[in-house]
Amino acid sequence: MKALIAKEAALTLEEREAPRLTSGEILVRVSACGLSREDLPGLLQAQGKIIGREITGIVKEAADARFEAFVGKRVVLIPYRTCEGCLYCRTNRKPLCESLVWQGYADTQGKQALDGGAAEWIKVWGAQALPVDDGLSDAQLGCVPVYAAALAAARKSEYLYAEHTAVLGSGALGLALAEVLRSMGSAAVLYIDEDKSRTEMAQSLGARCAKVLPEDGRVGYRTVFDTVCTASSQRTALELTREKGSVINCACGKEEVPYLLRDLNGERSICSVGGPQEKDYYDALRMLAAGRLSASFAGRAYSLADFDEAIKDLCHGAPRAVVMP
Ligand SMILES: [Zn+2]
Repeated sequence: MKALIAKEAALTLEEREAPRLTSGEILVRVSACGLSREDLPGLLQAQGKIIGREITGIVKEAADARFEAFVGKRVVLIPYRTCEGCLYCRTNRKPLCESLVWQGYADTQGKQALDGGAAEWIKVWGAQALPVDDGLSDAQLGCVPVYAAALAAARKSEYLYAEHTAVLGSGALGLALAEVLRSMGSAAVLYIDEDKSRTEMAQSLGARCAKVLPEDGRVGYRTVFDTVCTASSQRTALELTREKGSVINCACGKEEVPYLLRDLNGERSICSVGGPQEKDYYDALRMLAAGRLSASFAGRAYSLADFDEAIKDLCHGAPRAVVMP
């Protein structure tokens, strides 16, 4: 099968053997694999592996009877495996498991990845598949993992309902957050990003947009989501919180950020999000099916052979692109 592989600092299209199932696994014919712009560094770090962690497809085979009922069904995949036995795995906090491995993506802690979804076939554990009823397109379904990440971040805040929130750019996760926050009852969402097409998209999702701190930033935002996580975005985030807000970091930057303790004066805090849990994937899928989320940033679709066009698109600022193997 054709597969998109991360090699050194680039991606190459190679011929690979189709995966062979072992106990508990299912084989999925991939129909779409989304690539989000903020994921690019992590996709490239999945050295020697098939990239891509936003995966939709149809189950073709199950290794054992447990998942036989999935065969023929459309599914969205939860793109990671964990040990299933540690305290975190047993208490619904799987993203914190020390053995967590992403499919098609390597996080900044240098953990090795498993093969991802930018190929004709992928094998996963049966429990990683969420069956989909119908009525949703492959492009819409591909946005479920991004919405799941947005939901995981939104759930870190106790103060969404009727409070003002802010989102700092700059890609699919920022846009998904703007939409999820409105959908969860945030009074107003401020979206800060430099890019014109993205701010227009955020506006259409119900956010107010700005390139820099708005003059009424003095009001103070109860929760500020930083999807960029650089020294400059952290400074902006802290300024927006004023005296009683929380900054929620949704990315793992490597930049050194100088803080003063007085930056956290009043009742301010900074915290980070571990990653989406199974319930976040499930709820994102249900919200999408119910029409509460639009998937309007799904991006253009490319064949696997045209992957370099998709990557070019992302490098030129598109929040997302989709490859259809
Ligand atoms: Zn575990």
